[in-house]
Amino acid sequence: MDRGRLMAALATQAPSFQILMSANVQVAERKVASINPATGEIVAELACATSDHVNVAVARARAAQPAWEQAGVKHRVDALRHFKRILHDRKDAVATLITREMGKPKVEALLTDIVVVLDAARFLIDNAYQALKPERVPHSNPVLKAKSAYLLREPYGVIGQISPWNYPLSIPATESMSALVAGNSVVLKPSEFTPAIALELRSMLHKAGVPPDVFQVLPGDGPTGAALAAASIDKLIFTGSVRTGKRVAEAASQRLLPCVLELGGKDPMLVLDDADVDIAATAAIWGAFVNAGQTCLSIERCYVHRSLYDAFLAAVVAKTKKLRVGNGMDPATDIGPLIHQQQLRIVETQVSEAVAAGARLLTGGRQMSELGANFYAPTVLADVTHSMRLMQEETFGPVLPVAPFNTDDEAVALANDSEFGLAASVWTANRARGQTLARRLEAGTVMVNDVVSCYAISEAPHGGVKSSGIGRTHGRPGLEEMVRIKYVDSDLLPNLKKVWWYGYGPEFSRQMQGFSEFLFADGLFRRLRGGVRSAAAFFRKGRL
Ligand code: NAD
Repeated sequence: MDRGRLMAALATQAPSFQILMSANVQVAERKVASINPATGEIVAELACATSDHVNVAVARARAAQPAWEQAGVKHRVDALRHFKRILHDRKDAVATLITREMGKPKVEALLTDIVVVLDAARFLIDNAYQALKPERVPHSNPVLKAKSAYLLREPYGVIGQISPWNYPLSIPATESMSALVAGNSVVLKPSEFTPAIALELRSMLHKAGVPPDVFQVLPGDGPTGAALAAASIDKLIFTGSVRTGKRVAEAASQRLLPCVLELGGKDPMLVLDDADVDIAATAAIWGAFVNAGQTCLSIERCYVHRSLYDAFLAAVVAKTKKLRVGNGMDPATDIGPLIHQQQLRIVETQVSEAVAAGARLLTGGRQMSELGANFYAPTVLADVTHSMRLMQEETFGPVLPVAPFNTDDEAVALANDSEFGLAASVWTANRARGQTLARRLEAGTVMVNDVVSCYAISEAPHGGVKSSGIGRTHGRPGLEEMVRIKYVDSDLLPNLKKVWWYGYGPEFSRQMQGFSEFLFADGLFRRLRGGVRSAAAFFRKGRL
């Protein structure tokens, strides 16, 4: 898309942005450009939203939110149903745009972005009404029995969302849909590397009936994200690196802004001594190389029982050599380019440092300049150790580092020896054994005999422990992040003064000792005696 067409699209799709561009506010000087990493083609070039733009957008989102909330869950579910249909009809064009903007094979764009979003919409359509309706709260304290109580799940108001480039549709769309169906308005700041797909998402949501000010997209870079985190939003959903996540959390802490932080990972794969080598090897290369390894849940560390080690290495190397690297628009391509040169340099440095420190390079380990500037060969390294940066920091590239272990205890210790804790996987012929190890792994998700696919299960909550983040997206827990819980308590005997109100004295103290015995003492006799001692409190005189 050339720049003129893009600005025209922006103007027609985004009334709020159009007004911002023409209003007498600060003129945006910075620009973001998304560049096809396979070809260098400029896909989109847009002005960055300034902090003035951000503040105006948030104000508009706030003004529009009450009507959206009052329209009701059924109305909002209808909009999602409509959106789902539109996305399904446009899936080929959207997949093409994703591949052009960030490089992944088009079939992965379909499976890991579009199908994930369609299923997340299905999940919310099926479950949002039930999950968001008032919930009765029964309680057992006998003095408080004359009360009826329930929980309300109320939208926060304006949700700010900052997203990365690696799943440029599925991440912003799944989180936005949860926020919207709960009755919030959303202001999204997409990655500077994938603004066009975010504008496409906006266009589809607006066509589906989400009012323009209820879902807004502000293209921009880091400072635009920082401005959104500083704006008067009510909650922030951030997905990105640990480094940026910490900066965002620091800014949010100044005003106690609630945040969900979905951050990086260094996911371990544990191949136990009874695993099927062929299946585990195929899973390892897919889990490590899908999306060119630029997946928060990708396999970044692989530990294999020593008895299988050589056979496993031989299998992963043979399979890796069959993979085809190239432009994601070619249906024959398995692995596309990295997003940009900076990412490629990180991968290159980690691999060469590991080799210098004694890791064995079995295949790959080189830039594929013959294909373009951003291609890197899928790489397998053996005999890696935890002293290497490759095993400590997120690599985010097509690299599978493998190390042996001797016992399950050692495997668990190696897996947990990381600042990250997003997901992990265990490979074994014995499901019970896998589930036992799953309990010992420090991770938000553990898969037994699969990798990565948990992200496509809309019912499954997604999120990490340790530096991998705070809070959850997806599933019921992800929907719960988009609402404030309000407890509503109605007294059924409003004409009675409560027993515990003022008018204390020695007798009341004795009665309350008895009351606590009645509720919590061991043995029926002591409890009954407590009940008798406290009964008079209900008829106590002298209450104010
Ligand atoms: P990033 O941290 O560089 O950027 C993420 C977003 O933050 C971008 O939109 C960026 O413009 C914005 N940003 C940058 N500086 C900011 C600031 N000071 N204040 C506010 N926003 C700012 O990450 P990335 O390179 O886009 O994405 C890759 C990272 O995201 C990896 O670490 C990956 O593991 C992680 N990730 C995590 C998940 C998850 O669900 N846990 C999913 C996808 C990606």
